[in-house]
Amino acid sequence: MKIDHLINGRTIAGTDYFETINPATQDVLAQVASGDQTQVNAAVQAAKDAFPAWARLPATERAKLMRKLGDLITKYVPEIAQTETNDTGQTINQTGKQLVPRSADNFYYFAEMCTRVDGHTYPTPTHLNYTLFHPVGVCALISPWNVPFMTSTWKIAPCLAFGNTAVLKMSELSPLTASRLGELALEAGIPAGVLNIVHGYGKEAGEPLCSHPDVRAVSFTGSTATGNRIVQASGLKKFSMELGGKSPFVIFDDADLDRALDAAVFMIFSNNGERCTAGSRILVQQNIYADFVEKFVARAKRITVGDPLDENIIVGPMISPGHLNKVRSYIELGQKEGATLLCGGLDTPEVSDRVKKGNFVLPTVFADVDNRMKIAQDEIFGPVASLIPFKDEADAIRIANDIAYGLSSYVWTENIGKAHRVAAAIEAGMCFVNSQNVRDLRQPFGGSKASGVGREGGTWSYEVFLEPKNIAVSM
Ligand code: NAD
Repeated sequence: MKIDHLINGRTIAGTDYFETINPATQDVLAQVASGDQTQVNAAVQAAKDAFPAWARLPATERAKLMRKLGDLITKYVPEIAQTETNDTGQTINQTGKQLVPRSADNFYYFAEMCTRVDGHTYPTPTHLNYTLFHPVGVCALISPWNVPFMTSTWKIAPCLAFGNTAVLKMSELSPLTASRLGELALEAGIPAGVLNIVHGYGKEAGEPLCSHPDVRAVSFTGSTATGNRIVQASGLKKFSMELGGKSPFVIFDDADLDRALDAAVFMIFSNNGERCTAGSRILVQQNIYADFVEKFVARAKRITVGDPLDENIIVGPMISPGHLNKVRSYIELGQKEGATLLCGGLDTPEVSDRVKKGNFVLPTVFADVDNRMKIAQDEIFGPVASLIPFKDEADAIRIANDIAYGLSSYVWTENIGKAHRVAAAIEAGMCFVNSQNVRDLRQPFGGSKASGVGREGGTWSYEVFLEPKNIAVSM
C-alpha cells in the first residue's frame, strides 16, 4: 500500500517514501510519501488559497460539514480502529471503544461550538468597544505517534470549524489513520485545500511547515524537546504547545484505597503507558505505603501483555524498537539508581506466535523511588511505575512539584479541605481529585512549566484558532 500527501484535494506522490511498520509484527504496513519544503510550500499555498472562501462560509454551513465528517468516522470506527491498532500497537479495546469514537465527538462538539462564537461589548460614555473573533488563517497541526487519530482530530475539528485552513503533519511512526481522515473529509464535502496533509519526518517536513511565513498558528503535540525547537525555529506565531509530562498521582492515607489502586493502575498501564497524562510518579503516604505497594504489584502482575488485536490484552507493543530500547534502558537505570524492582523488568513477555517479533516490555513497578532519581524525573513514556513514599501534606506537595513538568496531577483523599488545598498547590495544568483522567471537551486541556503553553478545548481553543479584534467606535 502507498500513502501519499493530500494537497488541494488531490493525492500527491512523494519523491521519496518511507515504511510504516506494525509494532506488533514488524510487517511493513505501507510506503509513505516523505515530504520536504517543496510539498510543504504547495500545501501551505493550497490552504492559503482555500482560506477566504472557507472563512466566509456561514458557521452553520461549516458545522454541517463537521457533523458529516463525524458521521463518517462513526460509520468506519471498526476499520479506523483496526488500522490505528496496527499502526501504533495501542490495543483494539482502546482504539475501538474509546479513542476513535471520541474522535468523532470532537467534530460533533466543535460543529456546535463554532455556531456560538460571540463577541463582547465594552461601552463607555464616549466609545462603544466591541470584539470580533476572526479565524487566524493557515494553521500547522503537528501530531505525535501516541493516540494519533484522536490527537489530530482534537486539532483539526476546532481549527476547521472556526474557519481556518490546515496543513497537518502526522508522526512518521503512525501516519495511516490521518491519511484515511483526509479521504473522509473530502467525502464529507469539505472543500479541497481546507485540510491538507504532508507526511514525513520532523526535520524535513515539520520544521519547514512550522516556520513557513504564511502559517499563522502552530498547534503542536509532542515532546518538550521538539516543542522548544519549533518555537525557536518558527518566529512570531500563535502557539499551542501540548508537551511531555511526569504527572504525580498522590494517595493520602484516608483515600478509598481500592478505587485509588484501580485508577493508579489504569493511569500508568493503559495506552501501553504511552500517555502524556500518565500518573507515572505514584506518591503514597508512608503509613499505607507497604499495604499499597503489595496490592499495586498484585494488580500489575495480572496485566496482560501481547497482541493488541486481542480484546483481552491490556498492554500492547511499544511503538518502535527504538522506543522499546529507551523504555528498557530506564528499567536498567532504575535498578542502578537503587530503586526496588518489584515486578516486570527486562525479561521478554510471553506472547502469541503472531506477535513474536513485537516490541514488548513487561509492566514494571519500582518501589522506594527517590523523586530525584532519573526514573522519577524523566518521561519514560512506557508501562513503568515509580512508587514514592511521602510523610504528610506538605511533603506530598513538595515532591509533586519537584519536577520540570506540569501537565496533569491526581489527588486521592476523603478529606475535602485537603483535596482542594493540594489540588490548588500542585503546579500542573490539570488536577483530578479521586478520579482518573476524564476529559470533558469544554475543559482547558494543557500543561504548565515544561509541559507546554496554551490550552485547547471549548472556548479555550479560541486562544490558538481565533484572533480577537477590538473595534472602538466614537460616539
Ligand atoms: P516528538 O516530539 O518526537 O514528535 C512529535 C511530532 O513532531 C512528530 O510528528 C514529529 O515528526 C514532529 N517533529 C519532530 N521534529 C520536528 C521539528 N523540528 N519541527 C516540527 N516538527 C517536528 O514526539 P513523539 O515522540 O512523537 O510523541 C511523544 C511525546 O508527545 C511525549 O513527550 C508525550 O508526552 C507528548 N504528548 C503530549 C500530549 C499532550 O497533550 N501534552 C499528548 C500526547 C503526547
